[in-house]
Amino acid sequence: MNHAELAENFIKDGERTTWHDETLWFVRKKRDLAAFQIPEWEALREAASQIKHNGLSHMHEYLIAFEEKATANGIKVHWAMDALEHNQIVHRILKENSIAEIIKSKSMLTEECHLNEYLIENGVDVVDTDLGERIVQLREEKPSHIVLPAIHLKKEDVGETFHQHLGTEKGNKDPQYLTEAARQHLREKFVSRKAALTGVNFAVAETGEFVVCTNEGNADMGAHLADVHIACMGFEKIIPERKHLGVFLRLLARSATGQPITTYSSHFKKPRPGQQMHIVIVDNGRSQQLGREDFRNSLKCIRCGACMNTCPVYRRSGGHSYHSAVAGPIGSILAPNLDMRKNADLPFASTLCGSCSNVCPVKIDIHDQLYKWRQVLVKEGHVPFGKKVAMRAMTFTLSHPGVFKTAGKMGRKMMGLAPFTVSNGLNPWYKQREMPAPPKESFREWFSKNRNGQ
Ligand code: SF4
Repeated sequence: MNHAELAENFIKDGERTTWHDETLWFVRKKRDLAAFQIPEWEALREAASQIKHNGLSHMHEYLIAFEEKATANGIKVHWAMDALEHNQIVHRILKENSIAEIIKSKSMLTEECHLNEYLIENGVDVVDTDLGERIVQLREEKPSHIVLPAIHLKKEDVGETFHQHLGTEKGNKDPQYLTEAARQHLREKFVSRKAALTGVNFAVAETGEFVVCTNEGNADMGAHLADVHIACMGFEKIIPERKHLGVFLRLLARSATGQPITTYSSHFKKPRPGQQMHIVIVDNGRSQQLGREDFRNSLKCIRCGACMNTCPVYRRSGGHSYHSAVAGPIGSILAPNLDMRKNADLPFASTLCGSCSNVCPVKIDIHDQLYKWRQVLVKEGHVPFGKKVAMRAMTFTLSHPGVFKTAGKMGRKMMGLAPFTVSNGLNPWYKQREMPAPPKESFREWFSKNRNGQ
C-alpha cells in the first residue's frame, strides 16, 4: 500500500489521530522553548551544517583516519557495502563467539537493514532494550518515529501488550507500574546476555571513539555488561574532531525532545580488558546519495526527529504510513535513494510548507529536496499513468489561453448540470472535501466587465 492508503487507515480513528497530532506538536513546542533559550542557536545550526559539510566532502579521509585510530584503540572495524553484508557480519561475530542471544539498543540503521528479522531467521534471539522499541517489538510492529518509536500507541495499548507478554495486571495502564514491569523484564536480559549491539550517534575521526546517546541508559547497561559489544553505524555518522561534539550534543537533545542534554551521552573508545568491541561501518546506498548533488545534504541528518514532530502530514498520518525505516520528511528524501520505484509516493507526502527545513538542526533543505525528488521521479517514470496523462493535459491547457478559457466554461457547466462527474469516489479530492458550487463566471469575465480599462 502507498502512503495515502496507509494514512487513510491511520486516520479512521479520529480521536487517536488528534491525540497523535497534539502529542507531537507538544514535543515541537518543547523544542522551540529549549532552542530559544540559547542566543547562539542559529550560529550553532550553521556550525553543525558546516562541520557536516566538511565531513561529507572529505568522507574518505575521515573514515580511514577513524579506522586507523579505532583499530589502534583495540576496536575491530568492519566495512559493509549493503544491508545484507552488514547483517552477515553481525551474525558472523555472534557465531564466532557461540552466542545465540543478543540485546540491542536503538539503532535505526539496523531497522533499515532488517537485522532483527535476519538474526531471528538464523536462530538468534534478539531483544530490543529501548522501552519504546521493546513495546513495538512485542507487538510485532515497526517503530513509527526515530526518537519515539511507540508514539503511535496509548498507555492503554501498552498495558494490554504488557499484560499479554509480561503478565502484568489486566487493565492496568499506570505508566509507573508498566515501566517497572519493563525494567524487571529487561534487567534479566541485561545480566544474562553475552552480546550487546548499539547504534552510533557520532564517530570521531580524530580519536577513533564513538558516542551513543540514550535517555534510558540501556545502551550503556548492555555494552558494559556484555563480553562482545557490536556498534553499527552508517558512514555519515563521522565527524572530524572531538571538539565538534559540543556543537552536536547541544543541538541533538534540544531538537529531539527539548531537553538541554541527553541523559546519557556515552563515549566508547576501547574495549575493557577481556571484552571484544566491533564497529560495523555501513554504506547501503549512502555513496550513491553522496554522489547525488541535489540530495547529498540529506546525509547531514543527526536523526533528531524534529522534522517529523513539526510536519503536518506526519503528525496526522502516523509513522507507519511511510512504509520505510525512517519516516517523515527526512525519510521521504532518504528512501527513494534506496528504492525509487517502491518509495516514489513518499516525496509527494508533503505540503512543502518548509517547517521541516526551519527546525532542522543541521540545516538540511528538506522541503527543497522533496520538491526535487518529485521532478526526478516524474522524469524516471515513477508516477502513476493517470497522473502523467492528467499533468500533460494540464500543461497543454495552461499554456493555451483559448483552450483554458473554453475548458473553464465547460468545467463550470458540467459541475452545475452534472455534479456527479467530479463529486464521486473516483476523485480522491472529493473523499475528504465538499466540492464548492461553481461560480457563474470566470475571474477573466468578471475582470473584463468590471475593471478593464480602469
Ligand atoms: S533531517 Fe534534520 S530535523 Fe529531520 S531528523 Fe534529520 S537532523 Fe533532525
